[in-house]
Amino acid sequence: MDGLRAIPSVDRLLTALGPQGIPRPLVVSIVRAHLDEVRTREVVPDEDTLLGELREAMRRRRSKRLQPVINGTGIVIHTNLGRAPLAGAVARAVADLAAKYTNLEFDLESGERGGRAAYVEEILALLCESESATAVNNCAAALVLILRQFARSKPEVIISRGELVQIGGGFRIPEILETSGATLREVGTTNRTTARDYAEAISDRTGLILKVHQSNFRMSGFVESATVAELGSIAKERGIPLAVDLGSGAIVRTERIAGLEEHEPTPAEVLREGADLVCFSGDKLFGGPQSGMIAGRRALIQQVKGHPLFRAFRCDKLILGALQASLELCLGAGDFPALPVIQMLRAPLEDLRQRADRLVAGLQGAKGVLRVVESRAETGGGALPERSLDSIAIEILPKNKKVNEFAREVRLGTPPVIGYISDGAFRVDLRTVPAEQDAELAGVLKVALEIRTRIPSPL
Ligand SMILES: *Cc1c(COP(=O)(O)O)cnc(C)c1O
Repeated sequence: MDGLRAIPSVDRLLTALGPQGIPRPLVVSIVRAHLDEVRTREVVPDEDTLLGELREAMRRRRSKRLQPVINGTGIVIHTNLGRAPLAGAVARAVADLAAKYTNLEFDLESGERGGRAAYVEEILALLCESESATAVNNCAAALVLILRQFARSKPEVIISRGELVQIGGGFRIPEILETSGATLREVGTTNRTTARDYAEAISDRTGLILKVHQSNFRMSGFVESATVAELGSIAKERGIPLAVDLGSGAIVRTERIAGLEEHEPTPAEVLREGADLVCFSGDKLFGGPQSGMIAGRRALIQQVKGHPLFRAFRCDKLILGALQASLELCLGAGDFPALPVIQMLRAPLEDLRQRADRLVAGLQGAKGVLRVVESRAETGGGALPERSLDSIAIEILPKNKKVNEFAREVRLGTPPVIGYISDGAFRVDLRTVPAEQDAELAGVLKVALEIRTRIPSPL
């Protein structure tokens, strides 16, 4: 009981803590919860220790705020790090729209209510070389909508057993199909599915043929799958729509990117080959905001947009603004638009090496050994899983702390730096760090490596 009396009041602790960079009610709630925990201890800590614990608790909470980070993982499309960063011009366009009223559903010509997203849909269709297109919240939503709409009266959806894949955390194609009210009609085997397997499975209960990009894995050896062209002609003959979930949806010719040298099918190509509808993510290889694009035949897009769920899955004005600006960048460019994802994938090795040399040269006096090393970067986001790009990393073997402690310290830096540990050393891959972040990166590394910045001496 003596110990309990020694616990300082909440008010006293709040005054001692001062502003914490998070809302005061949250600070109060953290202090209260911490004191509840302290009351269960046998020995109550003295006030300084208690304040230290509380500052640590505040710091932990602050680190959970959504904030910009430096991606040193070498994985360009990293779902945990928010996938594609937007181009500067795109972010500025969004900021302008965000703070003002817009003509979102207002026709400036007539002064009356206008169609939402009509312009975005038009330029998306141009990019996909399709009759029509639309965008929803993400590719998962696009897939659910397509399934819901086309399995409405005829519930069976034909899909190859080789494409019943799991994409990222908790997104499993068979589960999506089932929650969409569709009945799975699996055909073929894990490694081999022929066009005939599909043709034989078609009945008067078939609402859709679905082909799903395997995204994050590849099979090799005794494998076969039906091509879009084959499925397209079966679909046409039997009067059943063919939808292709492309996942990443490259719009550039990935085979022309040094190191990738593998062709990722584009929406336009897949539609040309015979798909009636395609869907793909907006924030993977396309390099835009989180969204799910659907492109294809006009009548089918109209049906998808007519489904009651479309309203629940539609994009908000900020996303539409980001999409519009990203699409305009794509349509205005030659082969490779000025989108960060594409620029990072294409950054010449020599540029990365020069930046790394400069960074390491600026980190003299570090408590650790620094080297510029060759590394491997990846596309991520389920695209081209077998391809890795030559890259350059800064490798750090800290002397003042263990490598995992070092990694944690820079993760909690300002801004946070996310690297990886390879062979007992910490690495920051420069392919995924935009050059504009070099100075901030150097700043965080300096603190962690205990490099004393010389205070400029007065003249
Ligand atoms: C990533 C992916 C999805 C999900 O896309 P989100 O935009 O994250 O919803 C769906 N299908 C495939 C094949 C994918 O690769």
